[in-house]
Formats: sequence, structure tokens, C-alpha cells
Amino acid sequence: MKEDYLRSIQRAIDELKQKGLYRKLRVLEGEQSHRVRVEGREVIQFSSNNYLGLTSHPRLKEKVLKIVEHYGCGSGASRLVSGNFNLYEELEEKLACFKNTPSALVFNSGYMANLGVIPSLMQEGDVIFSDELNHASIIDACRMSRAEVIIFRHRDTDNLERLIRKKKGRERLIVTDGVFSMEGDIAPLPDLVRIAERYSALVMVDDAHATGVLGKRGSGSVEHFGLDGKVDIQMGTLSKALGGFGAYIAGDHEFKDYLINTARSFIFTTALPPVVLASSIAALEVIEEEPELKERLWENVRFFKPRVQALGFQITKTETPIIPIRIGDPHLTVKMSDMLFDEGVWIQAIRPPAVPEGTSRLRIALMATHTVEELEVALCALEKIGHRLGVI
Ligand SMILES: *Cc1c(COP(=O)(O)O)cnc(C)c1O
Repeated sequence: MKEDYLRSIQRAIDELKQKGLYRKLRVLEGEQSHRVRVEGREVIQFSSNNYLGLTSHPRLKEKVLKIVEHYGCGSGASRLVSGNFNLYEELEEKLACFKNTPSALVFNSGYMANLGVIPSLMQEGDVIFSDELNHASIIDACRMSRAEVIIFRHRDTDNLERLIRKKKGRERLIVTDGVFSMEGDIAPLPDLVRIAERYSALVMVDDAHATGVLGKRGSGSVEHFGLDGKVDIQMGTLSKALGGFGAYIAGDHEFKDYLINTARSFIFTTALPPVVLASSIAALEVIEEEPELKERLWENVRFFKPRVQALGFQITKTETPIIPIRIGDPHLTVKMSDMLFDEGVWIQAIRPPAVPEGTSRLRIALMATHTVEELEVALCALEKIGHRLGVI
């Protein structure tokens, strides 16, 4: 790279450091679980989206080992060329069944699913209504669509209704996270559906953090609210509670067919490796056969949340296993995260641009596999470090 370019990026990095927004990677040296080996030591993990602990579930590992023997490693081509393994068909059938929708289509990741679906649905002249705290992949997808994007206040359906009323006569989409990833609260889906019906708009929900976590069967926010058949497009990931990788869109047959033919992030990318598909197939089986995992996750929420509040921490209005502690200043948030790490408790600092300016936080994500002892270790460490830094 040219000298002057290197100097200018170094300046940009220095500026991030000054603002407390510089990020560095931590290195895992073993499997992702409720306890992890990181940089030579073992810590308790509170920073993954591995809510059910499936990344290291024996059923998934066993299945993947068998599949690799039979199918090898890579997929060799995009799905439309020659990479469409029968495992795709099996997984998509299982997903449609799980989500109680006519069909499902797998994408390579949640980011890519949003980037593929939203521009396929909405074009120039159309209008998208997007919650202000929606995930970055939705924001980027909205931009790519060339539709007009109108941001409504977080979970504020009165605000949405005022805005949508002004945009009659155009194709409209309301898009929301099902569970807000950095907040832990749940979208007001019944009201969004009601507004969509009144103004004949489409509704899309991103269930990245709701899949495997919400609803009696764990199928997500639509099941949680009893809205089967009322939400046009459901996106979800296979990489969070399902412990693998990839994402899906669940909806009508015609829509699936349309996406196969128009979604650029579906068409112009290599298919997922067979082992990755197999791990999600096994994950769906585990979710169905071991409902106690989800029960344990929620038991941990009921144990942990009141205790962390009783220590004097301010948490967000969360309703899920995501329990963010508000700190505010990014420097202080990172310092607290580092000190907790030294105590053997890994709680990652979340800072802008992942969250709005001035709202840096420690994002705790509970798992089904955390033991009560581990939760107590975390509470002790939070109390000790919180006092030391004057946060509580
Ligand atoms: C994680 C996440 C995504 C992206 O999913 P990946 O599979 O990690 O690319 C999309 N939307 C939301 C709300 C997420 O939390």
C-alpha cells in the first residue's frame, strides 16, 4: 500500500482508539461453549449467541462427522449451478415445518439473507418502514434496495402509523427485528401486523435471536405471539441458537421461487458446505426432542435477571436471555469488560456503531448450559468490578 494511504488509515485507527471505539479480536482455542479457552485461559462465556449450547452438542458433532465421510468438505458451486445437495431439500423441509410456513429457503448467512430479500422485494418508488434499532444487515439491505427508507422510533407503533399514513398508494414494507439483538426486547408484532393489514403493507421479521428461544416450540416471535400466517416474510439464522451457520427465509412457495430467481446474495455465491447443512438438520432435531434445553435457558433468565438488577445495575427493558447492562461511556465499558475477563468472566463491551452513541453497554447473553454456580461467579465478579469502577 502507498505510504500516505497507510498513514491516513493509521490516523483513523488512532481516532477510534481515542474515542474508545477501537476493536481487537480475541482468540478462542477450543470449542464455543459456556466455558471457553481464550488466549491460554479458561473463562465463562457470556458473549455468544449460542443460547442453547448447540455449537458443541454431541448430536451435532456426531452427525457432522458422518456427513463429512459421505459428502466431503466443500460444496464446489452455487446452488443454481451444481451445489444443491439433497441436504438442502431436507433442511428446507424441516425449516418450513418448524416455522409452520408453506416453504423455506436457506441463505449463506443472516446478513446475506437480508441483503438478498429486501432488495428483491422493494425497489425504487417503494417505501420501507424500519425500526430505528434494526440490525445493521437490515439497514444495509434497505440502502441497497433503492426504495425510500423511513425509520420509525423503536417499537413505537403510533409513530409508525403516523408515518405510514402519509405514504399511500405505494408498495410498502414494515421490517423489524423479532428480538432486538443489543436490547433484548421483543418487537410489538401483533400491532405491526394490524397496521400492515390496515395499510396493506407487507411485514417482515428478522428472527435471528428469536429462533430457538421464543415460542412454545422455539420457532420464534411469530409463534410467541400466535401470529401464524399473518407475517409475510420470516427471516431467521441457523448461526445463533441453532449453533451452526447460515440463515433461512420462511414464507410462501411463490416467494421462495421468486427469491431463487432474483436474490443476488442467493444466486452469486457458493452453496454452504454439506456439513454445515447437516449440523442445522441435527440442531432442529435436538430442539424438537430436547425442549428442556429451552426451559433451562429461561430458568437461567429468571434466576439471573433479578439478581443483576438487585446489585444496582441498570439493564435495558429486556424480555429475553439477552441482558445488557447500560454503562454509557465506551472507555469505561471496555475497562469493565477487561476487568471481568481477568476474573474469568467474558462479557463483551458493545459500543457504537453497534449501538447508538452514548449507550455503550455490557451485553450478557445467557445460555441453557450455564450452571447456577457459573451464574453466581458472574454475579460476584460483576458486583466486585462494578463497585471498583463506581458503576454501582
Ligand atoms: C446476527 C444477526 C444477523 C446476521 O446473521 P448472520 O448469520 O450472523 O450473518 C441478522 N439480523 C440480526 C437481527 C442478527 O442479530
